[in-house]
Amino acid sequence: MPIHRKPILAANWKMNKGPSETEDFLKSFLGKLQGSGFPCEIVIAPPFVSLAKAAEILGGPKVPVQLAAQNGSQKDAGAFTGEVSMLMLKEFYLHYVILGHSERRAIYGETDEVINAKMKKAREANLKPIFCIGETLAEREAGRLEEVLGRQITKGLEGLSEKDMVDTVVAYEPVWAIGTGVTATTAQAQEAHAFVRGEIAKLYGAAVANKVRIQYGGSVKPDNAAELMACPDIDGALVGGAALDPTSFFELIKAGCSVIEE
Ligand code: PEP
Repeated sequence: MPIHRKPILAANWKMNKGPSETEDFLKSFLGKLQGSGFPCEIVIAPPFVSLAKAAEILGGPKVPVQLAAQNGSQKDAGAFTGEVSMLMLKEFYLHYVILGHSERRAIYGETDEVINAKMKKAREANLKPIFCIGETLAEREAGRLEEVLGRQITKGLEGLSEKDMVDTVVAYEPVWAIGTGVTATTAQAQEAHAFVRGEIAKLYGAAVANKVRIQYGGSVKPDNAAELMACPDIDGALVGGAALDPTSFFELIKAGCSVIEE
């Protein structure tokens, strides 16, 4: 029997859309989604300041969109100016938190150890991490793809239980494909995803690894979502630029879901 993992498509808005633009997007997007019944999970990650507005709109019964934060602190409370704790995030009824995004790693210096501490805090708050990993172009060209992904996985997941692992979504995002318009080929993406699943199997066993959803991220668009999501180890997408416009994100989901066997 084929393994069934419900695909998950998530919009990472990054530092775009305050509350009023969030409202405009969601009203339009929910209108398009009405009656569509896509066989996947849909997630939106607005900036912190727009979470309250998003929660107000998405909090109703039967709204088929889940909410995520783009980051969260590894600390509980205290003198950490500018930080937001996982428990505070939980008050917005959100399900997911993106952790370890390459922009957090590269621009804000987040190490594997910091990301691991955030992963643990997220799980303590019962949030599901969208755990991002990926290599730079220099690392890929130097033949270090497996070493880099292996290190990010082992260190980032250290101390997490089997249940934590199953509740974690992994996002494989080659850094060279993020926001560049360059997408990994389906062969490159599938190969990396199979490697990631293999590394998870080494840590948690094949049964757990087969349940974990692994998203691809890096210039996913309506016209390449289907071929990527048709790959056996690609269980959805983490989308930046193409998820800023409700029509584009809707079309991307429609295309990606067209290859899902229910
Ligand atoms: C991202 O930021 O996670 C991302 C994949 O961005 P983009 O789709 O714009 O490449």
